[in-house]
Amino acid sequence: MPLLREKGIHLYIRREDTIHPLISGNKYRKLKYNLLEAKKQGKDTLLTFGGAFSNHIAATACAGHEQGIKTIGVIRGEELQDNWQDNPTLTLAHEHGMQFHFVSRADYRLKSEPLFIQNLKDRFGDVYVLPEGGTNDLAVKGCMEILTEEDTIFDYICCAVGTGGTVAGLINAARPHQTVLGFPALKGDFLIEEIRTFVHNDRWKLVTDYHFGGYAKVDRPLIDFINLFKSKTGIPLDPIYTGKMLFGIFDLVKKGVFPHGTQILAIHTGGLQGIKGMNRILKKKNLPLLDV
Ligand SMILES: *Cc1c(COP(=O)(O)O)cnc(C)c1O
Repeated sequence: MPLLREKGIHLYIRREDTIHPLISGNKYRKLKYNLLEAKKQGKDTLLTFGGAFSNHIAATACAGHEQGIKTIGVIRGEELQDNWQDNPTLTLAHEHGMQFHFVSRADYRLKSEPLFIQNLKDRFGDVYVLPEGGTNDLAVKGCMEILTEEDTIFDYICCAVGTGGTVAGLINAARPHQTVLGFPALKGDFLIEEIRTFVHNDRWKLVTDYHFGGYAKVDRPLIDFINLFKSKTGIPLDPIYTGKMLFGIFDLVKKGVFPHGTQILAIHTGGLQGIKGMNRILKKKNLPLLDV
């Protein structure tokens, strides 16, 4: 890419999107130790939370299916009760055996409250509960394994941020000479505190300028960038997380933020299953579609 050459920046993409066809990227890492723990505790069902386009919901359903653990998805939005079949993510999850429990947006906000969780346990039995996005200590431990010994050559490690579990794992695994940059896919300052509860150092920053108006919001420049990136590199990006992160990295490079010779590792956290659902929305809005 001419811009990178001109600025003397070395950019590498870690293809976590290719580690499993359906349990993609960081969601595989986040589930790994949780599935082991569920089995160790003798639980036969895993219950978790997510929205209608959640990569975590899709991944949990597929991982449970593969590992012989039943899955229940507590899904945000009662209105989906009658038309979830129109949603590609929920259809995929259903095909892999996930049972859905739809709740109102108001109830969904209570998803971390002990009483709300107890009510779910009363209803569904002795289930292993995994928080929204799959983020907990075991998920952070799994995400530390994204980085390898050879990655010590990098100056910066970049990652998209949703609930913060993945970036927390990278922060804990990074070496003292490295800086981790997290690119939140949603608005709000609460993430910094959330990430702090999981990490042991302060060699990290959140770059909050590239959420494009909020979670799952996209615009034409972003879509054009994702399609151009794919045509130039052959690497598909998802519009909710990795597309925004790479848009951000290129913009920072353009602005001269990184010195000549900087080595950047960007983590491709997957999420490609969400493209189908996004294209349906883009079509309704008369925006160009993402190439698949
Ligand atoms: C879930 C997800 C993220 C965010 O991971 P968190 O650990 O929740 O911050 C980033 N990229 C993709 C593709 C995801 O599906």
